[in-house]
Amino acid sequence: MDTSKARQLVEAIARTVIAHAEELTQLDQAIGDGDHGVNMKRGFEAVLADLDKLAEGNVATLLTGVGRTLVMKVGGASGPLYGTLFMQLGKSWPAELSARSFHATCRAAVEAVAVRGKSQRGQKTMLDVLLPVCDELAKETHRAALRAYAATCAQATVPLEATRGRASFLKERSIGHLDPGARSAQLMIEAVCDSLGAL
Ligand code: ADP
Ligand code: MG
Repeated sequence: MDTSKARQLVEAIARTVIAHAEELTQLDQAIGDGDHGVNMKRGFEAVLADLDKLAEGNVATLLTGVGRTLVMKVGGASGPLYGTLFMQLGKSWPAELSARSFHATCRAAVEAVAVRGKSQRGQKTMLDVLLPVCDELAKETHRAALRAYAATCAQATVPLEATRGRASFLKERSIGHLDPGARSAQLMIEAVCDSLGAL
């Protein structure tokens, strides 16, 4: 993976998230404060605006730079969490990319999110998509299956009661709604799976 390919993936993620900002906001209106779409759009617009500069170095510095931009621009709970995800991807990016080293890198990044959020799987958050999809990478699942699995994981947050983040304030009233962060994580994974096909 060279920087220009990584740049294309980052661009695909940004465009997908921005295109779904309205939907993310609506999801967050149901069980949060309605800012997830606006937050993510602001962050990824900043990423796109800075992309030339961010992509001046290698893949690791690109990913770290994306993470820093997200921390600075997204805000809310999701800014530091997605920021951590990308910064740790950059920090752990392997010298030799293989299915195995990619899985280890993603694992380190998702674990960093869990530490930052003091959260784990089953709490109706972005981790309910990020963690299982990362585990699936170890099985070298084909990208079409991985894409579908991300959607299944996101949908599986609907019957959960939130125990982390703002939605947890609603207790059992959070049941029956798709978690906005799980949906944004799904969108990012879909963007990567789709773009990998085109690279
Ligand atoms: P805020 O909740 O501060 O308004 P956002 O609306 O941007 O922030 O993001 C909300 C999303 O962030 C939630 O849907 C959830 O997926 C995720 N989230 C919130 N808190 C945590 C946490 N502690 N760990 C993991 N994910 C979290
Ligand atoms: Mg919110």
